[in-house]
Amino acid sequence: MSDSRFLVAEGVRKTFDGTTALDDAGVQVAEGTSLALLGPSGCGKTTLLRVIAGLETPDHGTVSVGREVLTGFCHHVPAERRRVGMVFQDAALFPHLSVARNVAYGLSRQEVAAGRVQEALEMVDLAHLAQRRPHELSGGQGQRVALARALAPRPRILLFDEPFTGLDTALRVKVRTEIHALLRQVGMTSVFVTHDQEEAFVLGDRVAVMRDGRVRQEGTPAEVYARPADPWVARFVGEANLLPGRSDHRVASTVLGRVPLGADGPDGDVTVLVRPEHLDLAPGAGGTVTDVAFYGHDSSYTVRVGDQALLVRAAAAPRFRIGDEVDVRFGGPAATAYASSH
Ligand code: ATP
Repeated sequence: MSDSRFLVAEGVRKTFDGTTALDDAGVQVAEGTSLALLGPSGCGKTTLLRVIAGLETPDHGTVSVGREVLTGFCHHVPAERRRVGMVFQDAALFPHLSVARNVAYGLSRQEVAAGRVQEALEMVDLAHLAQRRPHELSGGQGQRVALARALAPRPRILLFDEPFTGLDTALRVKVRTEIHALLRQVGMTSVFVTHDQEEAFVLGDRVAVMRDGRVRQEGTPAEVYARPADPWVARFVGEANLLPGRSDHRVASTVLGRVPLGADGPDGDVTVLVRPEHLDLAPGAGGTVTDVAFYGHDSSYTVRVGDQALLVRAAAAPRFRIGDEVDVRFGGPAATAYASSH
């Protein structure tokens, strides 16, 4: 059976010259799964990754992999003895070495003799390019060589620090999909650092949302999107209408009328989260369209209702124009709400 606490970091604190980078941060990752660490710039993602890798010693906290304590009270296993692989933002390949020699770099003679280079290149489907130099590779192939190099020593976990930032948008989508599939196929436990919500949702079986050195919420992408822990997380992981309302017995009265709330919806003054795709427009007199944008796969509208500007998404080409009078209807599942003191 796979270990649900294969990688555990707990109570991690780290201060740099008076700046608190991590403040009681922690994550746990089940064996063979991936976790995306998502958060804005400066929230401590990279520092947490470096603590897990053993490149940074925390002021407090523990890190264990496969129940072996790597960082603990007066105990620090050095990075090179952790069997933790890392893939960085730029592939950082040696330009004068072939693909095979880049992958072999850092392996022992015995490991090379045992065929680890070939094994790793086959995993990323690049064995046929073993003799090429980095400048003869596409950006995506370069990232796969970097991944092969990280896989070659057979690490127990793999850590990725914004690995696709250097790639253009189309390639980025392709490479991250491939890498995600590949890691799943080989059953690798992995952690990805990213500030991009879409990337986190694609790459992470689970997502940990960080802010100011702490993990604010951890869950599957669907859980985090549908039931964000607070309004800040709600906005960070997607487009959000946050509407003031008053709730009684799990029904909130808002500018949209009555919105049903989930089982743990609070009573009293609330802020209700309504995702734009849960709103529909119909001809009517409830509000006025003030902006329309067409994205190809869908359209978005801004609609003024009372003193609220609502964002609405529709999976079709625009049916309304700026200035049109419309009714906005809530058509989603039970919404999440926060007591207004949040
Ligand atoms: P980004 O997405 O911009 O890389 P991040 O979430 O990865 O950000 P960290 O790099 O972990 O954030 O940094 C967290 C905080 O700690 C920031 O305020 C940063 O300036 C500070 N910090 C990180 N490393 C050091 C260091 N070596 N010396 C001083 N301050 C540091």
